[in-house]
Amino acid sequence: MQQIFEQNVSFNQVRRRRLMQICAITALGLIAALAVANGITFIIFAAGVAALLLAFVFAFRQKLQTAAYILLWSMSAMLSAFAMTGAGLFDLAILGYPGLLVFAAILGSIGLFISVLLFVIAQCILLTWLTLQGYITPNIPSLSWPHLVFILVIFIVTGFCIYILVRDIKRLMWSLQLENSKVEQSQAKIQHLANHDSLTNLANRSYGETLFQQSLAACLQQQQQLALLFIDLDNFKPVNDALGHAAGDDLLKQLAQRLRAILTKDQALIRFGGDEFLVLAPHVADSQQLEQLADRLISQITAAFTILQTQVSVSASIGIACAPADGTDFKQLCRKADIAMYRAKEEGRNTYYYFDDSLDKANDDKFKLLQMLRLGLLEQQFRLYYQPQVALNSGRITAVEALLRWPQPDGSMIGPDQFIPLAENSGLINELGSWVIDQACQHIAQLRQQGFAHLRVAVNLSVVQFKDGQLPGIVRQALQRAALPAQALELELTESLLVDNTDHILQQLNALSQLGVTIAIDDFGTGYSNLSYLQRFNASTLKIDRSFVSTDAQWQANAPLVQAIIQMAGSLGLTTIAEGIEHAAVMEKLLALGCKEGQGYYWSPAVAMEQLPALLSKLQLQAKAL
Ligand code: C2E
Ligand code: MG
Ligand code: MG
Repeated sequence: MQQIFEQNVSFNQVRRRRLMQICAITALGLIAALAVANGITFIIFAAGVAALLLAFVFAFRQKLQTAAYILLWSMSAMLSAFAMTGAGLFDLAILGYPGLLVFAAILGSIGLFISVLLFVIAQCILLTWLTLQGYITPNIPSLSWPHLVFILVIFIVTGFCIYILVRDIKRLMWSLQLENSKVEQSQAKIQHLANHDSLTNLANRSYGETLFQQSLAACLQQQQQLALLFIDLDNFKPVNDALGHAAGDDLLKQLAQRLRAILTKDQALIRFGGDEFLVLAPHVADSQQLEQLADRLISQITAAFTILQTQVSVSASIGIACAPADGTDFKQLCRKADIAMYRAKEEGRNTYYYFDDSLDKANDDKFKLLQMLRLGLLEQQFRLYYQPQVALNSGRITAVEALLRWPQPDGSMIGPDQFIPLAENSGLINELGSWVIDQACQHIAQLRQQGFAHLRVAVNLSVVQFKDGQLPGIVRQALQRAALPAQALELELTESLLVDNTDHILQQLNALSQLGVTIAIDDFGTGYSNLSYLQRFNASTLKIDRSFVSTDAQWQANAPLVQAIIQMAGSLGLTTIAEGIEHAAVMEKLLALGCKEGQGYYWSPAVAMEQLPALLSKLQLQAKAL
């Protein structure tokens, strides 16, 4: 509104200036003509000059409409008077009419222009009629210098006035054009911002959908496939955590540039979310071509980045879905490529995986299992089973390991290997794990009162339980509630947890050790098998993974390695427990190698709490008989 008002003000000022200029120029022209005029001509010119001065004054006082009226009507009247008193339709004054019409069109309103036009037409008709009827006799004088002066005055005045008016119009057009292109530019900018991610300048998810529709239409027309490659960085979070968000942003920007550089013009790169990208690869000829692209993307991602003068490496997992083979709906395809990407992560990361329907089914099953898991927790469907740990030399029971079981209404049992990973991914493990600690402490306290006075319990922990830093508090409370001494509790950690060793985990392990809880390293030998970190974590027990000992063949193949582990553990002052002992022969060989304790079906599988006292009594009797 303000802008329109300002434009109006400046337009009126220009109009005022032009009116004043035209009045002045025309008056000057008439004054020049006065010099060569005489008689009636002189009087008409003089009247014209007076009218122009009046129009000038009105224009000066901002009365633009009145000024325009006075200018145009006085000039029309003046020219008519010349024509009437002079040569009629042949009079030189007629030459002034076109100029008048131009002024009227530009300076006046539409009404004024039409009035002047009608006046000019009427004037011409009248002059013709009057002449033809003989009421006026055209007085066509022979040519003289003053005639030339009149003609030149008319031409110069009208020519000059038309020139300045047309120049104004040109300027106006040019500024309009400029304004227009500015508007177009800012519209394009707004459109770009709406369609692109501000950090990487890549197409965003919603624009990605538009690009997908366009690509798909072209591919379908040529009966070709459009591939969607869903890229997720495997270890971007640690970069953000360790180097800060600005460094994380820098990495994403560099990554976007690298990936864009290896893609062709018709392939699109989209920033899907935080560390997720999507590549649209149209016109895919065969899977080989697609695999080459996936490999190139991975190698671009895995090449080291220099961020804050630090070399940073990340990797990526890629899920691939194709249209129309896997569907034509963008969201559905993204979901499928996402499922395949998760499968690539499960396959060990830094790789790609194609979507297929079995993945969808597995995902559906997982989803259902997750729902069941939530309900199971709510309804306390879980049970703890216990498997004894036995001193190999005496057969005495040293502890029991608490193992989670999930009985189903149909009598079957879902094993922990199936639901623990899901509980970890969904975060439910915190609630479930706390329940396990609490329940195990209660059970063992109960058994200690029932005569198994020195019984200890080993509880498995997941790395996720360390995330929120609450674990030492949870353990302390569980021990207090059950009135169980901390020495009766052992916590089993897997090697992978120790590999990610952060100060955060270390602090909590120290707090737990200070409580008096012991730490055991579970499944030793399957992961990185680095003994040096065991001391840092105050571990007191090493559990040799069952894959080394379960079968005779495994034992044959792994005996030297097991021996080395036992010897090294012994030198570090750690107790070794061999898991998965199924046969007496294996048990004896382990004993001969210096292994202190064992656990396995040879003694018993894990049993429900209700059967545990009987099992423990039986094993105690057997030990005494030895
Ligand atoms: P783990 O801690 O290594 O537990 C030992 C596994 O070996 C148990 O399987 C046990 O039933 C099995 N096992 C014991 N003796 C033998 C044997 O002689 N031969 C063979 N072939 N297997 C034997 P389970 O109960 O299926 O548990 C599997 C894994 O699930 C556990 O491995 C542990 O990592 C995890 N898990 C179990 N309960 C919990 C829990 O409460 N919390 C967490 N975070 N993980 C748990
Ligand atoms: Mg265990
Ligand atoms: Mg184990």
